[in-house]
Amino acid sequence: MVFIRLSHAARYASVSFSASVGGGSGRAVALAASAGILSGLFVGYQPKESKPHRHCGCEVHLTDVQQQLGGNLAEIVGRGNVSSNVTMRGSRLGEGTALAVVKPGSLHEAMAVLKACCAAGVAVLPQGANTSLTGGSVPRGECDRPTVIINMRRLNKILPVGADGGQVLCFAGAGIFQLQSELKNKYNRDSHSVLGSIFLNPSVAAGVSYGSGGTQIRKGPAFTNRALFCRVAQGGEVELVDTLGLQVKGKDALDFLETATELGLQDLDPKCKVAASWPNYRQHLTKLDSNVSRYNADTTGAECNRSEGKVLILATLHDTFPMPQKDSVIWASCSDFETAQALKREVCIASPDCMAKSCEYINREVHDAVDQAGRILIKMIEILGMTRLEPLWNLKLFIESVPLPFATIVCDKFLWWFNGILPKPLPAKLQALTQEFDHHMLMEFAEYTPGELDGLMSRLRKFQDSKPEGTVKFHVCADARERSRATLFRFAVAPAFRTYCIGLGQQGLSIDYALPKNFTRYPELPAQYPVSRRLVYSHFGCNVYHEDYVFDNSIDVHEAKMAIKKAIEKVGGKLPAEHGHGTEYAAPADMQQRWRLSDPTNTMTFEQRLVMESWGAELSCFHCPALWVGGTSYKKDYM
Ligand SMILES: Cc1cc2nc3c(=O)[nH]c(=O)nc-3n(C[C@H](O)[C@H](O)[C@H](O)COP(=O)(O)OP(=O)(O)OC[C@H]3O[C@@H](n4cnc5c(N)ncnc54)[C@H](O)[C@@H]3O)c2cc1C
Repeated sequence: MVFIRLSHAARYASVSFSASVGGGSGRAVALAASAGILSGLFVGYQPKESKPHRHCGCEVHLTDVQQQLGGNLAEIVGRGNVSSNVTMRGSRLGEGTALAVVKPGSLHEAMAVLKACCAAGVAVLPQGANTSLTGGSVPRGECDRPTVIINMRRLNKILPVGADGGQVLCFAGAGIFQLQSELKNKYNRDSHSVLGSIFLNPSVAAGVSYGSGGTQIRKGPAFTNRALFCRVAQGGEVELVDTLGLQVKGKDALDFLETATELGLQDLDPKCKVAASWPNYRQHLTKLDSNVSRYNADTTGAECNRSEGKVLILATLHDTFPMPQKDSVIWASCSDFETAQALKREVCIASPDCMAKSCEYINREVHDAVDQAGRILIKMIEILGMTRLEPLWNLKLFIESVPLPFATIVCDKFLWWFNGILPKPLPAKLQALTQEFDHHMLMEFAEYTPGELDGLMSRLRKFQDSKPEGTVKFHVCADARERSRATLFRFAVAPAFRTYCIGLGQQGLSIDYALPKNFTRYPELPAQYPVSRRLVYSHFGCNVYHEDYVFDNSIDVHEAKMAIKKAIEKVGGKLPAEHGHGTEYAAPADMQQRWRLSDPTNTMTFEQRLVMESWGAELSCFHCPALWVGGTSYKKDYM
């Protein structure tokens, strides 16, 4: 047995296991520092004279098999696709060091990697683009056993089915932006999922794994009962589960998909009627009862759904959707929240046959935060486009993980200080509405059936006419630039909040919850934790909310969070709704039971165990001082 000290990749800009695992002389230059900087990962060898870094005070014993694991993994995927001793930071929460990050390049490799990890007795963490907000895609520095991250990004094959692409099979690492573009350009079809993070191209499989939600109120959250995935059984052996519904099954499906370049209808089993999207979501959504529309602890559907890394998804099959003939993006502003709710119910989701494509909401505080902290991000997306922001985002996460003073805040301070050099991001007409009103909706109306767009517009005008003068005003975005600016403004909210808190020098907390479909107010907050700013934004059509709170530095953010959670649950809300439990929330007992059945040895997403074991706790609470206890708290993070 030897010790491995989990050292900080950023400090050493290099390395790894031990010399024998590395298979080299024990001292060599970093192999891929420049590429690694962009991806936040490093490959190389730890200089002998470097002092070991104690990550959260942890030290891990490696067994002989674990010492050899790096070499074994390199044999499976090639040396260039294994990085060792990598410290990674989550997009909003969590930071920890993985024994290795492995990037399989084929389905067989992914399965072989998982088998090797199981044989070595390490914990396994599946990973996509690492955009999740609740810490589930990075290790948390808890060191009972080492963690290996299986990053699935190289497995990005997309196979539309048949000549019309009515369904599509995606390998796990395919990105949702990549999928959206390919379906639109080649098949004039629409994909199943649009998240606020689409500019970072998050993976299709992670969407299923988290039940990610987003803006698409006609389609529902990412969901499919048709998947190919690996499960670690009771004895530690890796099982392949196939519910894809292809003509070839199991191991044969794996072989077939590995080489397939296209899929025809003849490749699907005609007898398989299993759902590849949320069944009847429109009907469900427009029935305004006391249920929530969707939430993360929902145990319905095949076990890959909302499995949160408890199984390794290799590929999934999804329904695709028709593209509308035409559409309009409308910014509507209301004098009060009640009117915004009424507009949503009477116009956007009045009936399942004629409803909006998306319906988002922001309040004045959100507008102010994005205006003060999000202008550079919006400009960057505009200049670089959706596909080129991911490396910059990873660079920001990397800089934040460097163990130097102010590293955690320097990027956001920069974004805050230089925000003002750019003009206001919203077009003049929308900007004027944001000055006049406190509540804003961004709606997309589309022509799926003849007359639908006109029908929605006439409902909107009728609604406006039914209200006192000046209660509701709206603007139909006139051109592509107005549409794009309005949409980017909405997407910039989540990242801008961290910049906003750091800029203001105050604590922040972000939460994600669903309210009953018939609930039409803001939940009341516990008075003992006064909030200095309350930013409310919402996938409004689904009554799913994200709230960002700015707190004075004297408030205990974790306590406040637990009290707010109780307040939301008291009115029938469910929390989290779409960002996943990750390492942040304890899941309810039935969800935990489901995960135990999927992963009886608790090999997968091992960190989740900490949450699972804290049965009495309302929320996961980690004692490691460098970790945040709630959403975005720069103060605690900075300690
Ligand atoms: C700016 C911003 C906006 C966002 N907006 C939204 C939004 O509108 N709606 C929303 O729902 N989310 C949103 N998110 C959260 C995030 O983008 C989603 O959770 C997304 O689905 C994560 O995808 P990923 O590829 O980055 O997954 P990761 O972060 O890498 O992983 C997420 C989870 O999926 C698991 N996983 C990944 N790949 C696999 C696999 N192959 N098999 C099994 N498990 C796997 C991981 O173990 C982890 O538990 C936002 C994030 C950001 C940064």
